[in-house]
Amino acid sequence: MSVAVACDVCGGRHQELMFLSTDRLFGREGSFPLVRCRDCGLIFINPRPGLEELAPYYPQDDYDLYSKAAGLKDRSLEELGRLLGPRKGLIEKYRKPGRLLDIGFGDGSFLYFMQECGWDVAGVDFNQKMVELVGGELGVDVRAGQLQDAGFEAGSFDVVTLWGVLEHVQSPRETLAEIKRITGEGALLVIYTQNAAAPEARLLRDDWFIYEAPRHLYSFNPDNLARLLATAGFGVSEIAFETPLYYCQMNWQYFKESRLGLKGDVIHSPSVMDRLMVKALDYYRRAVNGRPWSSAMTVCAVKSRDAGANGDGGGEENNEV
Ligand SMILES: [Zn+2]
Repeated sequence: MSVAVACDVCGGRHQELMFLSTDRLFGREGSFPLVRCRDCGLIFINPRPGLEELAPYYPQDDYDLYSKAAGLKDRSLEELGRLLGPRKGLIEKYRKPGRLLDIGFGDGSFLYFMQECGWDVAGVDFNQKMVELVGGELGVDVRAGQLQDAGFEAGSFDVVTLWGVLEHVQSPRETLAEIKRITGEGALLVIYTQNAAAPEARLLRDDWFIYEAPRHLYSFNPDNLARLLATAGFGVSEIAFETPLYYCQMNWQYFKESRLGLKGDVIHSPSVMDRLMVKALDYYRRAVNGRPWSSAMTVCAVKSRDAGANGDGGGEENNEV
């Protein structure tokens, strides 16, 4: 069931309706009011759909994903290194190999790669089948469900990662409070998420791929994400900005469909016009690479020494309506 909620970052109740968002990716029925908090600028779906309501919007049996997870150890480490090496490099700027938790581990490739690089890894994911496959393949501690229900031991992780996950969880504030509880002093938290401060968010409105309703419940900007992290005792140490080419392709796909009435798959069977547009967007993407104009951000945050590990860290109360 959907519930009307206060802002998850600041607890504010003054919100403006942006538009009614829909499932553009799979075209499933339903519309979801997207609002912006007048106090901190957080963009979120309100009323917020619950887990049961959201389940039909996630692909159920993704056999491609299953076969990837079942054959995890057959994957070339060299190839994974090319894909995931930058993530490892970022983490190891801050921490030597220790205990790492990946929240929303998907096909498990990041867990496998980091395990091979000497890390003691664990994971939590919604997909029960993936938990069984990845757990069986890697022989590591992986659990199913929400982080808050997984019951990891207090203070037990040095690094926690969320690659494209925080925007999907029911309450980022509660997720971060639990991360605070299960991490040790000086722990590193790495969050990859979209950047709602990118200029194309304003230009494209409901054609901006990143709103991704109803799977993305939240769209952050660097300021309100830093504010949320601070309530859990984490201080931002760096933000790397980048726009994946895929975002450009999807933005053009949605824009041409809804505003120009043009059909055709931009990624799999691009027309001449599609190729030209994507090339132009790619040029722009590279020009703003590393700047806050990019559509995605990887935020590194370090747990402050006085944050403790009991999940009661500061911030305003945030009761649901
Ligand atoms: Zn707010």
